[in-house]
Amino acid sequence: MTLIYPNIFSILFIMSKFLININGEHFDESSAKISVFDRGFLFGDSVYESTRTFNRHPFRLSLHIERLFASALKIQLNPTLSKEEIATQVLKTIEQSPHQDIFMRIILTRGNNSDLGLDPELSSANNLIIITKEISPNPEWWLSHGLSMIFYQKQNSPSGSLPKSGNYQENIMAHKAALSQKAYDAIMVNGQGFATEGTTSNIWIIKNGVVYTPPLIDGVLEGLTRKTIFEMPRVYPIQEKSLTRQDILEADECFITSTTRNLVPVTKVESTPIGNGKPGVNTLELLKSYLQFVGQKAVF
Ligand code: PLP
Repeated sequence: MTLIYPNIFSILFIMSKFLININGEHFDESSAKISVFDRGFLFGDSVYESTRTFNRHPFRLSLHIERLFASALKIQLNPTLSKEEIATQVLKTIEQSPHQDIFMRIILTRGNNSDLGLDPELSSANNLIIITKEISPNPEWWLSHGLSMIFYQKQNSPSGSLPKSGNYQENIMAHKAALSQKAYDAIMVNGQGFATEGTTSNIWIIKNGVVYTPPLIDGVLEGLTRKTIFEMPRVYPIQEKSLTRQDILEADECFITSTTRNLVPVTKVESTPIGNGKPGVNTLELLKSYLQFVGQKAVF
């Protein structure tokens, strides 16, 4: 644990695992509380972002806040805080953190209900909650061995770019199914039989030197790692393409992406080794380029 810029708050928070900002006030995990009438708690009526810092700078903060607002629009949640107010709170929390690099979950709920009931008018002001903890490096075995995944057939298959809402029930079911089969996670499959994404990650394959990922229309969250890979200088040709289970099983390489994990090789799906069953050399090359790219461009 590295202590940088010590101040009274970071000294107070150094002993706790989490530093949590609730509507502008900082708490540790034992004192952070929200109302039982919060609509995020009552109905999953919230949107959120997971992100991280690189060298105390937030990764693509303005894009994360844009996506938070885009998710809010998709569930008709009218933000009562501006993008600037949210950014200010995120930056304040980073400043208060005793850690060099942190994981951050930024949650915006529709607010506290004045009564039970679904009517959004029952709440007036949003709650903004920013939960942070020190980010741990990816376990070494992720790169030396790669992950194993299963397929999970989705019951609900909305199409198009998905909101990142507080309702992750289907993803939880998929993740639970994976854990019960001793896999790392599940690749979710939509009603048309196309693989969409992991439960908290985007999915990619490499076949004959071309990198493929499913298009948003298949029902995919537009991951910011995914977006960044499309924006960075091309190491390999990259295309959006609907992927069947077979495409994945017959891929030369497979990997997942997320802001907090970067790129992680997948070496087994449903007990079938992908390619030669080892982390793909092209995947590892892409990871290297990605880390170089975000290292240079972490502040934007
Ligand atoms: N897909 C889902 C369902 C997710 O929850 C996440 C991240 O939490 C991602 C994809 C990857 O998005 P990002 O690269 O922005 O972390």
